[in-house]
Amino acid sequence: MSSVVSYEVINNIGVIKVNSPPVNALSQAVREGILNAVTAAQKDASEAIVLMCDGRTFIAGADITEFGKPPMAPSLPDVLGAIENSSKLVIAAIHGTALGGGFEVALACHYRCAVPSAKVGLPEVKLGLLPGAGGTQRVPRIAGVKSALEMITTGDPIAAAKASDMGLLDEVLGSEDLQAGAIAYAHDLVESGAKLKRIRDINIDPASIEPGFFDAYRKQIAKRARGQIAQDRIVSCVEAAVGQPMDAGLEVERKLFMELVSSPQSKAMRHAFFAEREAAKIKDLPKDTAVRDIKQVAIVGSGTMGGGIAMCFANVGIPVKLVELSAEALERGLGVIRKNYSITVQKGKMSEADMEKRVGLITGTTSYDDIGDADMVIEAVFENPDVKKEVFAKLDAVCKPGAILASNTSYQDVNMIAEATKRPQDVVGMHFFSPANVMKLLEVVRADKTSHEVLATVMQIGKKIGKVCVLSRVCYGFIGNRMLTGYGRQAHMLLLDGATPTQVDAVAEKFGMAMGPLAVGDLAGLDIGYKARQARTDVVHDPRTHCIASALVEMGRMGQKTGAGYYKYDPATRARQADPEVEALIKQKAAELGITQRDISEEEIVDRLFFPLINEGALILEEGIAQRPGDIDIVYLSGYGFPVAKGGPMHYADQVGLKKVVERINEFAKTQGSDYWKPAPLLQKLADEGKTFADWAKANA
Ligand code: NAD
Repeated sequence: MSSVVSYEVINNIGVIKVNSPPVNALSQAVREGILNAVTAAQKDASEAIVLMCDGRTFIAGADITEFGKPPMAPSLPDVLGAIENSSKLVIAAIHGTALGGGFEVALACHYRCAVPSAKVGLPEVKLGLLPGAGGTQRVPRIAGVKSALEMITTGDPIAAAKASDMGLLDEVLGSEDLQAGAIAYAHDLVESGAKLKRIRDINIDPASIEPGFFDAYRKQIAKRARGQIAQDRIVSCVEAAVGQPMDAGLEVERKLFMELVSSPQSKAMRHAFFAEREAAKIKDLPKDTAVRDIKQVAIVGSGTMGGGIAMCFANVGIPVKLVELSAEALERGLGVIRKNYSITVQKGKMSEADMEKRVGLITGTTSYDDIGDADMVIEAVFENPDVKKEVFAKLDAVCKPGAILASNTSYQDVNMIAEATKRPQDVVGMHFFSPANVMKLLEVVRADKTSHEVLATVMQIGKKIGKVCVLSRVCYGFIGNRMLTGYGRQAHMLLLDGATPTQVDAVAEKFGMAMGPLAVGDLAGLDIGYKARQARTDVVHDPRTHCIASALVEMGRMGQKTGAGYYKYDPATRARQADPEVEALIKQKAAELGITQRDISEEEIVDRLFFPLINEGALILEEGIAQRPGDIDIVYLSGYGFPVAKGGPMHYADQVGLKKVVERINEFAKTQGSDYWKPAPLLQKLADEGKTFADWAKANA
């Protein structure tokens, strides 16, 4: 038939089989192959047609390599039309994941069956898009308006059993044998005289929808959408499916799809999608680099981070041994792990048996001698260089040759840590984020002597435990925390200049940050920065960057854990509330420093918070700390709550225009001095040349 789609009649059933690895994406060749096969099947002796895929999954979506290219015939709607108008029953037979355009193909079929392990979904919203081939029209017709909205606005995949309950599937097969099951099901349908069931012919009665339902739904999802427009457009499409013929709804869907495809939000989200995949690649690592087998992990320190990291490994079935200073500390650490798992069980997201299995994989010891056989050791002890060096010297003495020795340090020099051992090639940074069992980001810190094999292994195991890995070279704070310095500094200085904590955080949150910088400070604990400043006696701390925060700590206001920080917190709900006492303190500190307070615009707050991220990001690129601007974006998207609809700080910079960023930095330098505001040479150069960070990425691929 074609190189990627085959057709043969088996047992009187025409079987169309797509075979286009890795995920049978809807490329031009696949579309054409399906169209030709459906056309051919009309004329042969087959009684019905089964559409299925070889390999690991049913069609898992559009072919993203065709994005942004001129359309190539046949279009997907043409293929769907041929399926829907077939004179013989067409049955989609699903295994793996039928996603996006793949599931839309299945929806154009007259019946859908799936193996029990299959999943279906319309994840377009995750790229700032909506299903553009009838998904928004067909799903509400078979699953109802509410379920359709939930499915399409979240984009989450749905398991076969639930999909069947929702009406998305007609049959869940009795076994995982897809072809046999699908052919048998096709025979059943033919024998029972099943009709050509075209979803497009179903009408949704407007009287079945409560008045005001769609407006209420729009309001409800606006909160969750954090400024993303796709969710709202999806509601409009589903609304257009009610009480109208299918073609009218399809027209609305097409129009809104085109709007989203060319929107900056979707561009940003597609950038993030590709950047995440790109970040997994280390530029100078040969493809055939060997990877070490990680069967057993040890973690030194069972505090906040050690416990969370242990859970990451236990969750994928890798046994973990925790090493602690004392039996009490160990017991505390193991207790927290059990408690965290039991919260998940209470929420109904994990079975008791599953929890016991995972808890059972985590054991403890107070002796380093017990971890000699670990394939990988991750150190998560106190953030103190001497303690770290001592721990690595001990690890060097007890660990087997070839064991990977990793540090979870946030700031310490991994080269220095490596030199505490006789095997610096095996030492690497693995910087997890808190809570480590939840946060996606893992900065993999490459020290000068870290071997290729160790890097390849860590990137692979990071992915296995569900992390998004980004490579960083060694510098103070690596990529993410180093960039955060300027952001935090400006948040603080904005207060002295006249903004309130509520105003700064509200502007950051309106920009799309998961949480504003001052609220984050309260969540993390203001005492952490306080102690860090005290520990750094080698630098003079500018009072403008910390005087309010320090005063709050000295007043006993450490943040959420003490019920007060920049805000007051409701003991029951943890809701934050502005506190006049803090506003008075800010005024007092500004007066002490001779700062005249003024009204601050939203634009100034946005630029002062986010342009320092961009500028530091440019330095990080120039110094080779990060491999690509997209890697920096991924750090911020997966570790710092940066809004995906803005694509990360570097993509955002490109959208604002680097020339404007430089101009604003120079303006701020006039009032605050060039210590804090000096365009990075790379930023200045790209701006002068009228280029973007994306241009830089292409030139340095
Ligand atoms: P923590 O104080 O909660 O835990 C440290 C644990 O290490 C304690 O239980 C302590 O008893 C144990 N410990 C200390 N010395 C030890 C030794 N020699 N042998 C065995 N155990 C020892 O600290 P944490 O917040 O989990 O931080 C650990 C590391 O992770 C630090 O380097 C920190 O910078 C880094 N980190 C922390 C965060 C965070 O948000 N907390 C985020 C990323 C990275």
